[in-house]
Amino acid sequence: MPLSNIWVVAEPSNGSFTTTSLELLCQARTYGATVSAVTWGEDVASLAAQAGEYGGAATLYNVGALGGALPGVPVASAIAALVASVGAPDAILIPTSYDGRDIAGRLSARLDRPVLTNVSGLSDQSGLVTEHPVFGGSQTVRAHFTGEGPGIIVVRAKSFAAEPAGGSPAAVVAAAPGDLGSTGGATIATSHVEERVGPKLEEAAVVVSGGRGLGEADKYALIEETAKLLKGAAGASRAIVDAGWVPYSHQVGQTGKTVKPTVYIACGISGATQHMVGMKGSKNIVAINKDPDAPIFQIADLGIVGDVHKVLPALIEALKARG
Ligand SMILES: Cc1cc2nc3c(=O)[nH]c(=O)nc-3n(C[C@H](O)[C@H](O)[C@H](O)COP(=O)(O)OP(=O)(O)OC[C@H]3O[C@@H](n4cnc5c(N)ncnc54)[C@H](O)[C@@H]3O)c2cc1C
Repeated sequence: MPLSNIWVVAEPSNGSFTTTSLELLCQARTYGATVSAVTWGEDVASLAAQAGEYGGAATLYNVGALGGALPGVPVASAIAALVASVGAPDAILIPTSYDGRDIAGRLSARLDRPVLTNVSGLSDQSGLVTEHPVFGGSQTVRAHFTGEGPGIIVVRAKSFAAEPAGGSPAAVVAAAPGDLGSTGGATIATSHVEERVGPKLEEAAVVVSGGRGLGEADKYALIEETAKLLKGAAGASRAIVDAGWVPYSHQVGQTGKTVKPTVYIACGISGATQHMVGMKGSKNIVAINKDPDAPIFQIADLGIVGDVHKVLPALIEALKARG
């Protein structure tokens, strides 16, 4: 059966949709099906414009202000109520994020439908076929839904491009949550926003990442300085996150962030498959490693066999001299 109807859960963030939400809206419109978006918040006028511009969405369902509640319970409840009132779409696309995964799990229970997670690709083969990287990204598994009801699909960041393709603003339709049950009483007590200088790791055009080859936590300052001079973001391998040198939010890889910058500079990183799966889509990969046989060189466009403690200070000096 051709796809006729796709819903995208589009997460709001400071008056805009998150980048992964925009990626899903763009991808949804490529199938020629009717696209609708589901979001939440008090003022969604600018979001309605984005839903049209990126997804060609005619309708933006708004769950409304959540009053300090976590989105998972009310949004899943509102989507389940929508399915009951307007009918089920072929698929519900949800970004991989804390809230997205929460919504997906709760929706699965409410609709009694399974969820396909960690999706990195989608194709229309008379129904959506999902792609999932396994074994550290070395193999891809394909899956599709059977049976009646919508496919709940949770998609990784950077799986698709987000380009506005034009379209009128979506019509905003209120989508009130139904019964929230006992979990509806949970509210956000406090939240912590991590301080960040420069662009977000997932959105930076240049990413400079450090690994265990830096030798000690203090040397991560070399990574941060290089990233700053290149107007990029600083990333890390899991080894140094696990060692407590940098926060988890810096981690690139299978269990961290997926990045696709124009330039990725890996410094003292061996190139384990679990790291590479998160950065191999970068346009240009530069690797600095003292071991000429390090696996990272297999995917590097430019390999520098050398000591990071010599190469990075020289690079920093050259960048400073360039002004
Ligand atoms: C389920 C699972 C999930 C995982 N998820 C992730 C993930 O999301 N992200 C991730 O990164 N890893 C992940 N890992 C861990 C991964 O397997 C590797 O252990 C990790 O990526 C190694 O980090 P590293 O390259 O910094 O360290 P190492 O592998 O120890 O490499 C250090 C490198 O630095 C080089 N070096 C040493 N000294 C210098 C010097 N002075 N100058 C230049 N080079 C030097 C060495 O030659 C070596 O190549 C995961 C593992 C598992 C099992």
